[in-house]
This record gives sequence, structure tokens and C-alpha cells, in this order.
Amino acid sequence: MERAYPPEFIEQAHKATIYHEKDILSSTVCTCFYCGYQFDPHKEEDLLWLDETNPKGKTLVCPMCLIDCVVGDASGFPVTAHDFIMACTEAWFGGISRISDGKPIGKTNLIPIEVE
Ligand SMILES: [Zn+2]
Repeated sequence: MERAYPPEFIEQAHKATIYHEKDILSSTVCTCFYCGYQFDPHKEEDLLWLDETNPKGKTLVCPMCLIDCVVGDASGFPVTAHDFIMACTEAWFGGISRISDGKPIGKTNLIPIEVE
């Protein structure tokens, strides 16, 4: 079987998962490459960002699984192509992710910690 996506392309896509604030905000669809959740960043409530003070830009975590593995369509990558998502999850997680185990995605909730 011929590989549709060269390793360098997959590598580049991985770089699009961090410091991507501008890309995410100009995207209409984003995909989490860990759990497979797809969402419109403008309709999603409570987006959670990491790297708040990084000059390169903030990093979005997945609203569903809280993993920082989200790519937006403004990055130019085919974020809704199933074979691309599978190729990335294979390369980045060794095929071990919540996409590959085939189980339904459950929302991960942050546990509020009370500090006295
Ligand atoms: Zn996710």
C-alpha cells in the first residue's frame, strides 16, 4: 500500500499542534488527533489554552480530552481526512490513542481543587 502522507508532512502537522493560537482562531474546524473530537473553535465554550505567555502564541488543548494535540484547518493540513488523522495518531502515539481503540469518546472533566 502506498503511503498517502510522507513522514515529513506528518512531522510538520505535529508542529501545528503547539503555539497555534492564530491558526486556531482563523479555523472553522479543528480536530484533536488524540481522541478524534472535531469542533468549531468559535462555537466551543471555554477553550482552554496553555503557554499563555509564550511569544510564539498560545496552545489550545482539546475541549474533550484535554490533550494538546489539536490542529485547525487554517494550518493547511487535511484535519478532517480520516486517513490523515489515522496516519498522525499512528506516528505520534504509536497507534495507541483514543481514536485507535475504537471506544466512544467521553469528556474528561477537570477536577476542581479547593484551596483554603
Ligand atoms: Zn481530544
